[in-house]
Amino acid sequence: MIIAIDGPSGAGKSTVAKAVAKELGFSCLDTGAMYRAVAWRALHDGVSLEDAEALGAIAHNCTINFRHEAGDPVPRRVFVDNVEVTNDIRTAEIDRSVSAVSAVPAVRQALVEQQRRIGMQGNYVVEGRDIGTAVFPEAELKVFLTASAAERAHRRVAQNERRGVGSTDYAEVLADIERRDAIDSSRDTSPLKPAPDAVQMDSTGRTIEQVIERICALAQEKGVHV
Ligand code: C5P
Repeated sequence: MIIAIDGPSGAGKSTVAKAVAKELGFSCLDTGAMYRAVAWRALHDGVSLEDAEALGAIAHNCTINFRHEAGDPVPRRVFVDNVEVTNDIRTAEIDRSVSAVSAVPAVRQALVEQQRRIGMQGNYVVEGRDIGTAVFPEAELKVFLTASAAERAHRRVAQNERRGVGSTDYAEVLADIERRDAIDSSRDTSPLKPAPDAVQMDSTGRTIEQVIERICALAQEKGVHV
């Protein structure tokens, strides 16, 4: 079974997806981390973000892996060609670059193929922007999670402070979120938009726990046993 969780940057998708997966005993796939990994490889290799062909080749050729910490069922560590990039893909530089990379059709094609291959392996919570619309249009449960840009920026600043990586300047984070929303929603290939059969949830003013509980309840209605 696939549970698709889509929505804009900072809506709480990652936290929610990981908690839902843990609660239901599902695996979890963070597709944003895969686009970030390709952006990291491109910057690391000095590839221009305007060189669509080179970006497509990177997405096609690099190996992205997720690994678990011992005792943690959720894979939080990210590797590109066996180099750990868990923190390096969360920097302000990657935040600024990733939407240009993810707008390239050849990049999307390569990563969507990998995402489908991974998701086929069992019960997965998959989070991203186009999971319910393009990657797994047949997903049994689709959630489109959003929140106001201001609330998302506040949450992202708090998250960056906790992780000790990425910008902690509210104005900078808000500007980046608004810029990425605009690019992600207006790109030609798989723009960010809710699938017609997605359950839309606005997490503004709700706790993350309430959102998690609601998604788990919906999954149970679809026949998942906890
Ligand atoms: O979710 P996260 O903020 O880590 O995603 C980083 C970027 O990756 C997004 O801004 C978007 O450009 C891209 N992305 C995407 N499709 C997905 C997941 C992420 O285009 N399924």
